[in-house]
Amino acid sequence: MAVTYKCNSRCLTCNTWKVYLERPIDAEKELSKEELERFFERYNRFFWLSITGGEPFLRKDLSDIVRYAFESSPTMKILNIPTNGMHPNLVKNSVERILNDTEIPYFMVSVSLDGPRDIHERVRRVNGSWKKAIETIKALERLRAENPNLIVTFEHTISQFNVGAYHDLLAALKEEGLTEVLKNHTVTFMHHGQLYHNSISEVKSKEDIRILYDTIRKRESRFSYLGFIREIYLTLFEDYINQPNRQVLTCTAASRSCFIDPYGDVYPCVIWNEKIGNLREVDYDLYAVMESEKAERIRMHVREGICPVCWTPCEAYPAMITNPLKALLKSAFLKTRNLIR
Ligand code: SF4
Ligand code: SF4
Repeated sequence: MAVTYKCNSRCLTCNTWKVYLERPIDAEKELSKEELERFFERYNRFFWLSITGGEPFLRKDLSDIVRYAFESSPTMKILNIPTNGMHPNLVKNSVERILNDTEIPYFMVSVSLDGPRDIHERVRRVNGSWKKAIETIKALERLRAENPNLIVTFEHTISQFNVGAYHDLLAALKEEGLTEVLKNHTVTFMHHGQLYHNSISEVKSKEDIRILYDTIRKRESRFSYLGFIREIYLTLFEDYINQPNRQVLTCTAASRSCFIDPYGDVYPCVIWNEKIGNLREVDYDLYAVMESEKAERIRMHVREGICPVCWTPCEAYPAMITNPLKALLKSAFLKTRNLIR
């Protein structure tokens, strides 16, 4: 769920930062802390909650929102919050409060890095953003030393603006002495979708796709439960590139997961701009939205692959967890085929 579209970055890959520059009045329409409390009271079955933005840490009440979510959903095992890392103290203080207030088994904070300093700042279009992101990672790693449930990661999203920068990024992080975070990182791919406010920055040219394959095949990986899922995700990404109009695995969007924007609008996923309903219209009851006729129709379309089709991790992970055998077999097949070639 996106809790705000406020953002202090200026990324080439995403137009979210423009939302309130163009329509400042819309910022007042975001769900308030009290509305989110009501929402979490009424829906108490979260297993994996991803809180995103904009820059989610710009919400001063972020730790209260997480506390409500955790207190109402004892089933919650994984919380994931991405950040652009441009406010090290804000992130550190908020994460510290969340750690003090909750006992979420896996609390993952991922800092976005687009490449080494020059590439990162060219994509983010903010001078000094690399240094701030590194400071944020270091502050989080200090917190992790006393909180083993905190997982500090970085997320590298490959777009047409940074394709091929992955290995230089790893070298830059080693130079910064950040060897721990290297063990736990995510590589994803830019998609065209509603969460990014329709910025078109996917990797397109044949040469860039070749570099992309190379990056995937020569990635660094370490064994862990989440690392294992990431490995399968990346292996299956090749299948998506080869056939971008066909779902890699049967998607579970609108059945196992959904996306909620800062105004309470509910969508099947972060990519498909097909609104299912609005929380404010049903007294913040997600069940009412997801049990509607429209939700049923959308689920049918998703099952049949009648949707924009993507392989974004937000929806790919639930699909892999729901179809583990198929995911494993398909990934084993692709790995074997790559070895033979
Ligand atoms: S990618 Fe993230 S940090 Fe960059 S503009 Fe979009 S929301 Fe902001
Ligand atoms: S395949 Fe992608 S676009 Fe289609 S419903 Fe699933 S997550 Fe959304």
